[in-house]
Amino acid sequence: MVQFQLIEHGRPGVWELVEKPLLQPDAGEVVIRVRYCGLNHLDLWMEAGALPVSIQLPRVGGGEVSGHVIRCGPDVDHLKPGMPVAVQSNQYCGECDFCRVGDHSQCLNSRLLGVHRDGGFASEICVPSRLVHPLPDSLDLAHAASVLLAGSTAMHMLTDRVKVREGQWVLVMGANSGVGSYAIQIACSLGAKVIATASSPEKESLARRLGATHVVNHRNDSWPAEVRRITSKKGVDIIVEHIGGSILESCFHCLARGGTVVTCGATAGKDIHLNLWPFFVKEQRLTGSYGRTREDFLRTIDWLLEGRIRPVIDSIFPLEDAMAAMAKLRDGRVLGKVLVAP
Ligand SMILES: [Zn+2]
Repeated sequence: MVQFQLIEHGRPGVWELVEKPLLQPDAGEVVIRVRYCGLNHLDLWMEAGALPVSIQLPRVGGGEVSGHVIRCGPDVDHLKPGMPVAVQSNQYCGECDFCRVGDHSQCLNSRLLGVHRDGGFASEICVPSRLVHPLPDSLDLAHAASVLLAGSTAMHMLTDRVKVREGQWVLVMGANSGVGSYAIQIACSLGAKVIATASSPEKESLARRLGATHVVNHRNDSWPAEVRRITSKKGVDIIVEHIGGSILESCFHCLARGGTVVTCGATAGKDIHLNLWPFFVKEQRLTGSYGRTREDFLRTIDWLLEGRIRPVIDSIFPLEDAMAAMAKLRDGRVLGKVLVAP
């Protein structure tokens, strides 16, 4: 089997394609022939060594995996070789206080696929079977891989951390990102009125195709005023944020009374300045969101099967061109998901 592994951190890092012996599963594990693996900003942070965890190199990146089971270890009963499957990337323990009540996103022993253990930039991966979910034969595995991490992150934000109600105004930052493109669709499906931000005509057009009725450009400093104008000065009830820095600060200039900013990322800066006076007077909230629960993950697959969300795929690269795929994501030149096909 082959795997694409990071051997030195950097922007870009140093990767190598290596041949390895076939993987053999232990008890409770399965080996999956990877068909598609989505790229995420998590892979870029891992590559750069910018995560607050120590990573043992070499490391195979990639956490958004669909494929076929090819070998099962002892004590695996719900999976059989040949089955098409999806892998949950935040590998929760299932036993800590948080897992016991279903809050898997807060697992105290969580391990991320492609960060703490080798991920899907490989022709095979070995994972605990309880994190592997069968998919129907009819489902396109590229479509599946494109929603598993990005789609379920947006699902956790909009159906768990905040609950979108019909008729609310939802602002989605960065319509072209994986999380953004699914957040627009999820908010629309829940009956919200969606405004999205985009920084080019192609990204604007994508946002409208996905269901946004209004689009503003967050590179233009007057964008919060534009959002207030669209909402007749009320502001938006919920903001889906993952950019951070000064963009997150500006969000509070167009957040309605009682509104919530829910954030799952900080690509443009981790530190913000927040004026607490209007924040508490308007009874606003800033809510963190991290990963997903098992329920969010399964719901995302169900919504894909029901057509409530559609896959948004920018491009698919062969594994040997994964460097080019990473560069495309790093440069922000994407309209939806970039996948590799090992
Ligand atoms: Zn746990």
